[in-house]
Amino acid sequence: MSKESDRPVGDATRVVSAGRRPEWTQGIVSAPVWRASTILYDSVADLRAAGGRDTHHRLFYGRRGTPTQWSLADALTELEPGAEATFLYPSGVAAIAAALLSVLSPGDELLLVDSAYDPTRSMATGLLKRMGITTRFYDPMIGAGIADLIGEKTRAIFMESPGSLTFEVQDVPAIAAAAKARGIVTLLDNTWATPLFFPAIQHGIDLSILACTKYIVGHSDVMLGSVTAAQGHFAKLRDTSFQLGQTASPDDCWLGSRGLRTMAIRLAQHQSSALRIALWLDERPEVAAVLHPALPGCPGHDVFRRDFNGSTGLFSFVLKDATEAARAALIDGLEHFGIGYSWGGFESLALPIDPARYRTATSRDDAGLMVRLQIGIEDPDDLIADLAAGLERFRAALA
Ligand SMILES: *Cc1c(COP(=O)(O)O)cnc(C)c1O
Repeated sequence: MSKESDRPVGDATRVVSAGRRPEWTQGIVSAPVWRASTILYDSVADLRAAGGRDTHHRLFYGRRGTPTQWSLADALTELEPGAEATFLYPSGVAAIAAALLSVLSPGDELLLVDSAYDPTRSMATGLLKRMGITTRFYDPMIGAGIADLIGEKTRAIFMESPGSLTFEVQDVPAIAAAAKARGIVTLLDNTWATPLFFPAIQHGIDLSILACTKYIVGHSDVMLGSVTAAQGHFAKLRDTSFQLGQTASPDDCWLGSRGLRTMAIRLAQHQSSALRIALWLDERPEVAAVLHPALPGCPGHDVFRRDFNGSTGLFSFVLKDATEAARAALIDGLEHFGIGYSWGGFESLALPIDPARYRTATSRDDAGLMVRLQIGIEDPDDLIADLAAGLERFRAALA
């Protein structure tokens, strides 16, 4: 008979317990906010002993963290089977920058997915280019075909799955296998799925990146990022991040840990409401296409079914025969959807998007203008009624 402790525990249990080490919580349920810059030592000998690079989980200086940050970093490591450790950053973009700089040097080439988050593209065509690092953009649907793009100078492959705005699901295991065969580092922006719905390192990724601003925090009130490294990949990430002076505030990490505790139940609600609304939109005559990884029309849907444990609350749809004014009429009058950037909070958002502007290697020949929805945890019936009224305004504006 197997012991209770041999059972794999479920996601909701994992996010509740992760990172709550007794030496950090001191008997309190959650690790409290430890703020620090200076750490005081008992003697010169103590001061000397605390220095050096091996300060992992030892108070040394505020920039290197306190139990508040260590608890969240450890929790994220626990959620990624196969991970070595996690470094936290003051934003998702800062996490992406540190991850890329930890693996790339002047003269190297980066392969970057064409559907990537726009600030990731800007980093490649701006900062990295200035440093003498070249970038080639590739088709998100390339799969094992990535092997043909790998050249002498290729050092890293960056993926984002599903893609920002257009939701193509990448064949991460195939790309990771091609990269491993050539000794190339793989990075994934895993913000949409989180480690609960896509355990990235288990699927072959070396550096798994999250904009914790989204589902980890979950309340639209904190900027935070993380990189979780596979075994053997943490030392370079840590050293680069130390050299860049990266540190995440203890208050923000405390809010990140607080958000994490409810992430599994929030994601379950985001998933079911978003799926219901996506299927409803798919039936509407005003809608040309719904781009949601769990719907068959989404590029990479088969890969999604093979690799993912679930879907979350963000997707897009294409309007049929739309004008800018009609799309604005739809969005402007929504009562339960805010108009704004970012996503992953408890509240619903609607955003007009024009992804063609951000493509260079591939084109999106979708016939109409697009809207991206973040489905929050409101009652889905209210959101559907709101969208139905929005589509009425859309039709009226076209008439
Ligand atoms: C928001 C976002 C980021 C950046 O995170 P910030 O915390 O806003 O810097 C990175 N990748 C994706 C896919 C995002 O949606």
